Amino acid sequence: MAQIFHRFLAVGVAAVRRALMVGGDMNAPVPQYSLTRRKNMRRTVLRVGADGAVRVSAPPWVARREIDEFVASKAAWIARRQALADTLPAPLTAGLEAEQLKTWIWEQLDDLMPVWCARMGVEPQPRVSLKIMKSRWGSCNALRRSISLNVELGRRGRDALEYVLVHELAHLFESNHGPGFYALMDLHLPDWKQRRKALRAR
Ligand SMILES: [Zn+2]
Repeated sequence: MAQIFHRFLAVGVAAVRRALMVGGDMNAPVPQYSLTRRKNMRRTVLRVGADGAVRVSAPPWVARREIDEFVASKAAWIARRQALADTLPAPLTAGLEAEQLKTWIWEQLDDLMPVWCARMGVEPQPRVSLKIMKSRWGSCNALRRSISLNVELGRRGRDALEYVLVHELAHLFESNHGPGFYALMDLHLPDWKQRRKALRAR
């Protein structure tokens, strides 16, 4: 019973807060955030990191009060993102887990790489490096014929790793994500969209 009451109370408080914010109440609570000023930005950008920290970037001419109001207006969204961040595994850092994931990825690449290079007509095989990357799953330098794969892929399983590998190999032929690129993906890995969706879903 106490629990039910508590839930009602929480919903009630959230509703009141929302109502206050819609009304533009200046006393609406401002979630804690860190601020970076960037000269070449045109608008204020807010991000909630994987660690739940709120980071705001704003052009120099936007007043601090305006930024506070902006952040306060996003309070509900921020709270949802932070709740989600709590359920995510900690971002990968150098250490034992990363080394184990690398070993596993290299084992998979032993057979994936020759198979896919043969299927796609990639000759010679590109050089591969495994890196801990913050914002992408892989990258390809077609000129140097080198591919980087995110070590985090080791947590996502073989289908995900294979999808990113084929994606980066396709960049050896098509540098952009244009129609030619997606035609290659459709041809070689018809279920690539499902794999991408699975990779994006946390
Ligand atoms: Zn790409």
